[in-house]
Amino acid sequence: MTDTDFLSIAQRRAEILGGIEAAASLRGGAPAVLVGVSKQQPGDRIETALAAGQRVYGENRVQEAGERWSGRRADYPDLELRLIGPLQTNKAEEAAALFDVIETLDRAKLARALAKAMEKAGRTVPVLVQVNTGEEPQKSGVLPTGLAALIGEACELGLQIDGLMCIPPVNEPAGPHFALLARLAQAHGLAQLSMGMSADYEMAIRFGATHVRVGAGLFGARAS
Ligand SMILES: *Cc1c(COP(=O)(O)O)cnc(C)c1O
Repeated sequence: MTDTDFLSIAQRRAEILGGIEAAASLRGGAPAVLVGVSKQQPGDRIETALAAGQRVYGENRVQEAGERWSGRRADYPDLELRLIGPLQTNKAEEAAALFDVIETLDRAKLARALAKAMEKAGRTVPVLVQVNTGEEPQKSGVLPTGLAALIGEACELGLQIDGLMCIPPVNEPAGPHFALLARLAQAHGLAQLSMGMSADYEMAIRFGATHVRVGAGLFGARAS
């Protein structure tokens, strides 16, 4: 790690947090939580972010997240790990043991697997339901029309649903998708809204995001 890397990650983080604060004071209410999306980022950048005080991280793969984070809990007891990528039912146990929040519940079968996995792990992991607001065939997330039924089933299984998450289509303005997600969350009495990434987190906050997921804008471009 060079000093330049440290300065730029710490500086970018400070700028993002400043933007989040400013947006919160315009709207009133608590500032959104900055989720640092650490997927595919080199370890030295993560160290830098930790040193700068960043504690909430988003990962999209269970295995990669486990390798990176499972040994870190002892040093950073206030670490919060959020799964933001699609979850296969055969990884539910691993996910329930590792993550503090699972943002990507999107089907009844996964709800059942998670309920079982949490029972086995002896911990309740709060979940968000991922909504496919753009109704894109290739994208995960429950369709808006299926949301009520999925929430109902998940609640019956004893899952704790804290909110909703979405990833708007890349080629469309994100605003209408953020507005739809906010409306759905309100209709179901859910408090958390995970929406907005590097390019549009400030807009997402204007629509009520409580959690913004920022990767490249915080850490720099991902290795591909
Ligand atoms: C990668 C990813 C992000 C972060 O994207 P950036 O454009 O790097 O900010 C946010 N949310 C999800 C679900 C992701 O997979």
